[in-house]
Amino acid sequence: MPDAAFPRMTSVPETAHWHAIPHEEVAGRLGVTSAGLTPEEAQARLATHGPNALPEPPGRPPLVRFLAQFNNALITFLLAGAAAALALGHVVDAGVIVAVVLVNALVGFIQEGKAEQALRAIRNMIAPHANVVRASRRRSVHARDLVPGDLVLLEAGDRVPADTRLIRARGMLVDEALLTGESVAAAKNEAPAPVEAALGDRHSMAFSGTTVAAGQGAGIVVSTGTHTQIGRIGRLIADVEPLATPLLRQVDAFARRFTWVALAGAAALFAFAVAVRGYGWSEALIAVVALAVGVVPEGLPAVITITLAVGVRRMARQHAVIRQLPAVETLGATSVICSDKTGTLTRNEMTARRLVLAKAGLAEIAVSGIGYDPQGALGWQPPGEDARGDPAEAAALLLRCGLLCNDAHLHAENGVWRAEGDPMEGALVALALKAGLSPEAERGAFTRLDEIPFDAAYRFMASLHRDPQGEAVVFVKGAPEDVLKLSGAPGGGVWEAAIARAAAAGERVLGFAMKRLAVAPQRLSFDDMREGFDFLGLVGFIDPPRPEAVAAIAECRSAGIGVKMITGDHAATAGAIARQLGLAENPVVVTGAEVDAVSDEVLVDMAASTSVFARTSPENKLRIVRALQSTGAVVAMTGDGVNDAPSLRQADVGIAMGRKGTEAAKQAAEVVLLDDNFASIVAAVKEGRTVYDNIRKMIAWTLPTNGGEVLAVIGAILLGLTMPMSPAQILWINLILSATLGLALAFEPTEPGIMERPPRPARAGLLTPFMLWRVVLVSVLFTLVSFGMFFQSLWRGQEVEMARTLVVNTLVVMEIFYLFNVRFLHMSSITWRGALGTPAVLLALVAVVAGQFAFTYLPLMQAIFDTRPVALVDGVMIIAIGVALMAVLEGEKMLLRRLGIFTASQM
Ligand code: ADP
Ligand code: MG
Repeated sequence: MPDAAFPRMTSVPETAHWHAIPHEEVAGRLGVTSAGLTPEEAQARLATHGPNALPEPPGRPPLVRFLAQFNNALITFLLAGAAAALALGHVVDAGVIVAVVLVNALVGFIQEGKAEQALRAIRNMIAPHANVVRASRRRSVHARDLVPGDLVLLEAGDRVPADTRLIRARGMLVDEALLTGESVAAAKNEAPAPVEAALGDRHSMAFSGTTVAAGQGAGIVVSTGTHTQIGRIGRLIADVEPLATPLLRQVDAFARRFTWVALAGAAALFAFAVAVRGYGWSEALIAVVALAVGVVPEGLPAVITITLAVGVRRMARQHAVIRQLPAVETLGATSVICSDKTGTLTRNEMTARRLVLAKAGLAEIAVSGIGYDPQGALGWQPPGEDARGDPAEAAALLLRCGLLCNDAHLHAENGVWRAEGDPMEGALVALALKAGLSPEAERGAFTRLDEIPFDAAYRFMASLHRDPQGEAVVFVKGAPEDVLKLSGAPGGGVWEAAIARAAAAGERVLGFAMKRLAVAPQRLSFDDMREGFDFLGLVGFIDPPRPEAVAAIAECRSAGIGVKMITGDHAATAGAIARQLGLAENPVVVTGAEVDAVSDEVLVDMAASTSVFARTSPENKLRIVRALQSTGAVVAMTGDGVNDAPSLRQADVGIAMGRKGTEAAKQAAEVVLLDDNFASIVAAVKEGRTVYDNIRKMIAWTLPTNGGEVLAVIGAILLGLTMPMSPAQILWINLILSATLGLALAFEPTEPGIMERPPRPARAGLLTPFMLWRVVLVSVLFTLVSFGMFFQSLWRGQEVEMARTLVVNTLVVMEIFYLFNVRFLHMSSITWRGALGTPAVLLALVAVVAGQFAFTYLPLMQAIFDTRPVALVDGVMIIAIGVALMAVLEGEKMLLRRLGIFTASQM
């Protein structure tokens, strides 16, 4: 690449042949040096070329969204009812039904719009970033801010952010299925490709939207946004999820079936009313239509969607971004969480604590200091650079190896030292500084020629350097067992003892080795990594457990959720950390090799009884998830690497790390964890349980609400009595309640003790036996009270209209009190918390009360609904009935629990 700065340019030449031009020439044409663009240049180019983004797929226009609200079996049913009422000349009834439909559609429309907006905002929290070099500094920028000429760095798991001409590729494989349909990842290198090469053969290019499957590389952005290949073919990578979940589909299917049952029931009732009871057919028909409309829970789908959306928003506040809506439901049913260790259960803030030197009889050196601050001392100072003594030389070599086989940088921000890059590598830089080595001087003196990047699959990193004498030397660091193997297992077991000592203290242990090569190869390959290394020693790092993870694990235990640590780290280290975290009294630790050795059948028991899996591979993870799932467990699994994608997909809830996770892992996951923190997973599970609870509460409230009013009228028809409500009044109850009180339950906060219940079984129905019993009990109570109210009023000599007005008001008041009862299914509702309610509940309450006053006292409404003003005594009596209902239901909750018929968690 040319080193001279090119004149400032804001427009970049268009060519379709970047793949065929040597990369030096590409750099020249695009005016970029190895230092990358300057921020000012990038800014200027962004102004000319526009953002590196594809046009958003157009959202649905508001009218379409509004009309979509009517595309629902229940609503169709209501509209048919309105048509029937109109045909019968019942204009008021038809009008009320249409009002019900409109109010519903409006609520659905507004709430769905809000939900979509919230989802979009949350998506932005996980907008892709790209690593670029600008003004000689590596930085992470929004992918949409990339410009032609930008120098991007790519590694396994990254999504290529723009069309890029590669200038360097190391073992780079790119999955281009999106563009070419080819499922085998394409190998890349920086040499020019033939001009006539088809897209899939342009090995010198990495195209926007494709995924780096392995290796790493760097390249120059040649086109962005709509000028990229993906932009040209106009295929949008649409992330837009339909607002559909298994639960919603279940409710929809239920609604459809329900509609038919309601129709059949209505027809039978109509026949009975006319033929047996001798009602006039028109009067009977409108009553039956009103009943059918009343019994239909038309508000339910919209309210469930809202509840899910509220859950998504609450989870985002807890740093868990939902990529796929069904995860909200599944999270609530999670019974096992399989978590990474490093960074998720621990802080991923490493500090070197001890050195063990190969020479000098395994001298152990303690290191002091906190975090990445290079202040601190080695318990024994290696005397100078040119010392010939064994320990000194050994220490110097070990520290140098750690510094050179390393891509991290340290910098101080307001006096706080931070590591840029891998935390463990940052700790090695700090360690070298404590020993008096200068990273710049060392890295300058030993030019790096090539490297093999770290990969969890082989657990080491190697780098090839030219030393100041011009000789070639390879440094390697990695999992000590593997590095020892490269060195021909020296020491006959003493190293294993040293590793075990450090690991037992919970330290993360790294081994170091080097070898000199007679001739420097062009490339460092795995063939160079077979043998002949000199083992230099070990470094032990501490990575303290996250304190909040300890609390979260304890919470999981009380919530009946199993926690399994699955880590690439050493078994003893993992076991020690597991003990510190309180994962288990005496955690059973199993290694990846042991998992490999057993059959799938044996693994089922092994997975269930093990709490720590160490030195695992991504394949192990996949098998462990499957084994756990085979027992019916609902498994949440974390992951960050490109190879974790299969297990993330297999898991019921795949959770990708937002910070250290690759784009490939995020794409495969349902949830992205913004702070990589285990405690956030548990918080999301809690929110998931809340969502499910609230949906159940909504159903528990809606069904008897509909059931109660309808049963009273059916009873009257069956017994041939005067109907306690007119059809218009039935419809009114439906109108006033469906859009207010039921909706309020979507915003219910978490019920206390929610994490003291076991997880719900994956296939459990929405309605528990307790709730079914509740539906029946409350429906019957409502019916009996309605009748009682009606006949005592008639008996007192009041006219039918007055009696009916009392019945409607009683029903609505009972609904209100019942709502307060339902808010707490698992505990008593008679508490301060229960009485105060949420803003949503109080708002709904005000709306209902206002509506009822209008219904009862407004002359216009009196004319429409044939109501009469209720006297104060009657009003007081109605409230008293509500209080009595509350007392009965609370008493019943307590009694059932006392008698042991249902436990709190079964409610
Ligand atoms: P974890 O589950 O703790 O994240 P990893 O899969 O990242 O484990 O790492 C597994 C092992 O690989 C570590 O215990 C360590 O020995 C080694 N290792 C991790 N990171 C590096 C690195 N940057 N360079 C060399 N070796 C590493
Ligand atoms: Mg790791």
